[in-house]
Formats: sequence, structure tokens, C-alpha cells
Amino acid sequence: MIPAPIGLLAELTHRCPLGCPYCSNPLRLDRRSDELDTETWTRVLTEASELGVRQVHLSGGEPAARRDLERIVECCATLGLYSNLITSGVLLDRRRVMWLAEAGLDHVQLSIQADDAARADAIAGYGGGHARKLTIAAAVVAADLPLTLNLVLHRRNIDCLPAAIELALSLGAGRLEVAHAQYHGWALANRRALMPSRTQVAESAAIVKAARGRLGARLAIDFVPPDYYATWPKPCMGGWGRRSINVTPSGKALPCHAAESIPGLAFWNVRERGLADIWRNSPAFRAFRGTAWMQAPCAGCDRRAACGGGCRCQALAITGDATAADPACHLSPSHGEMLAMAEAESAAEESAFRHRRM
Ligand code: SF4
Ligand code: SF4
Repeated sequence: MIPAPIGLLAELTHRCPLGCPYCSNPLRLDRRSDELDTETWTRVLTEASELGVRQVHLSGGEPAARRDLERIVECCATLGLYSNLITSGVLLDRRRVMWLAEAGLDHVQLSIQADDAARADAIAGYGGGHARKLTIAAAVVAADLPLTLNLVLHRRNIDCLPAAIELALSLGAGRLEVAHAQYHGWALANRRALMPSRTQVAESAAIVKAARGRLGARLAIDFVPPDYYATWPKPCMGGWGRRSINVTPSGKALPCHAAESIPGLAFWNVRERGLADIWRNSPAFRAFRGTAWMQAPCAGCDRRAACGGGCRCQALAITGDATAADPACHLSPSHGEMLAMAEAESAAEESAFRHRRM
């Protein structure tokens, strides 16, 4: 029996004015002309609700690049789906935030690149972006929408963490998500320019721990450590084909946002298939569901059901084999190689970013 998915990540578009070097979007981005139309998204959301999905994350690219975002939010609300808008904020204004709230939006996750405008805009490759984000954060709070700030950490902004915590407080955010860069898509292409040292990572964890103790319920802080210095891997997306579905702008249904990096997987498209059919029968969802596909050391490991072998895309990127154990796991034969790679890259001189562009 395959359990129902809980979440749907709806990548409404790959268009985005920002050029974050850690963006998890694929290097080859979907064009506007390939995007699903409003009617198809409405059908997909209806099918998701029927399948058991409860949360929809409206993402991209920048989802506000779609003029029909309010209609899509309204559709979620009508279906009783919790809607979370993941946005850079730069294409929003106060009026549009109010419209989204009136359409039934439940939550906003607003990304920042650093605490100060000069550095944030340099990282994003977009002048004036940080100032606009501050305006939008105020608009979200004024509209009585819960606000989470997202900060992706890397070697070029890791020292701003204490100031970013203060910024989240001053903006009225209820939550701050501090996530070390995960090396997929553009982030993998920029890994050398982004990789922090093990010492920096430990310091960031200590700063979060101290802030949690000091701030308590005033600000919830989530912390996602980097895989490259981990001992145990994270189950990818809570388990391959176990908890969530990702639909790309052109309609491909993926078990995780980076799954297209694995050659040979066939991704069914929501234009041609129903979501329930895709969830249960698509070859891509079946490929790494459960544990039957595993090889040693995962095949004999007590943790295999919960861990799922970690991230398939990371296993492929480091070992060249998508069925290998995630090298983030200290039991993987490639664990030492991955760690050595991270230490060498973090010690190398800073290199220029390759900004994400269409
Ligand atoms: S990570 Fe940056 S470039 Fe990628 S979609 Fe988000 S805001 Fe745009
Ligand atoms: S050996 Fe495999 S299943 Fe066990 S913890 Fe490591 S990655 Fe997970």
C-alpha cells in the first residue's frame, strides 16, 4: 500500500529576476512558453486534494512572475489546501500581497540573501532587491499573514547569521529558516564558490542554538546543516515517493526537485496523466521507493527504512551511481572523498559566482 503524499511543490515558473548562485533549479530552465496554464494547474491541484495532499508550496523560480498566482491561491483555498508562497518578494507590491491574502493565502516564505543590501544584492545579482524585500516583509505582516524568512548559508554570507536573526525579529517574522546550501542545480555548479569550512558550519550551528535559547517562542529557528560535513544523511524529501510530489513549470512530476539530474529516469507529465496514476505507477516514483533497490551498505542497514539511503541525486553526483549510499553517510565508502572535497574547496581562494540566468 503506497501512502498518500502530504505535500505538493508546485514550481509555477522558472522565471526569476534574481540570479542566486545556490538556486536549486536545474541548469536548463523551462521557458515561459512551456509553462502549464491556469486550467491545468487547477486540475492538478484538484487531483492533489483528492489524492490526500494537504499542503501546497507555490514556488519557482519566482511564482509572482505568474499573473494568475491569485487564481491559483484561490483554487487552493477552495479545495481546503494549505498554501505556502515561497518568494523572493521582488515582483510583489503591497497591493498584490493584500490580494493574495484576500484570495486565501495561508503563509509566506520570503528569501533573503544577507542582512545588508550591498552584500545581499551582490549575491543575488540584482540591484535593489534587498530593499524591496524589506518592504514586502512589512506588507506581509500588515496583511496578517504568517512570515518565515529563508536564508541560505554559504561561505560568502555565513558571518551575517547573527545580524540576520536580528533582522528577522525586527521584521516581525515568526520563523527563520537557516539552511546551508544543498548542492544541486546551480548550487552544484557553484559549489567551490559557496562551500564553507567545517569550523564555519560548527559556528553557525552554535549561533542558532544560542539564539533559540535566548529567543524562545519569539522566533522559531529551523537549521538545515550541510550534507558535506554530515555523519548521517537526511532522507530525501522525507523519502523518495513517500511524502511529496514536485511538479515542474512544464508539468513533469518529480519525486524531488533535483531528480532530473539522474539519467534514465522517465518522468510522466501531468498534461498526459492524472496525479494519482503518476504517484502510484510512474517509473520515476517507483525507481527508489522502498528499499528493494538498495545495495550495500544500505541493504543491510537497520536505518534503511527511515533513511531511504539519503539523497539519490547526491549519490549520483559524488559516486556516479544513483543506487549507491548517499556519501553524506559515514558508512558510505565515498564519505571520506566527499569530506575531502568539501575541505579542499572551502580552503581554496574565493572564486566568482556563476549567477543563475535563463
Ligand atoms: S533561489 Fe534565487 S534565483 Fe533561484 S528561484 Fe529563488 S530567488 Fe530566484
Ligand atoms: S548505510 Fe544507507 S541506509 Fe544506512 S544510514 Fe547510511 S545511507 Fe542510510
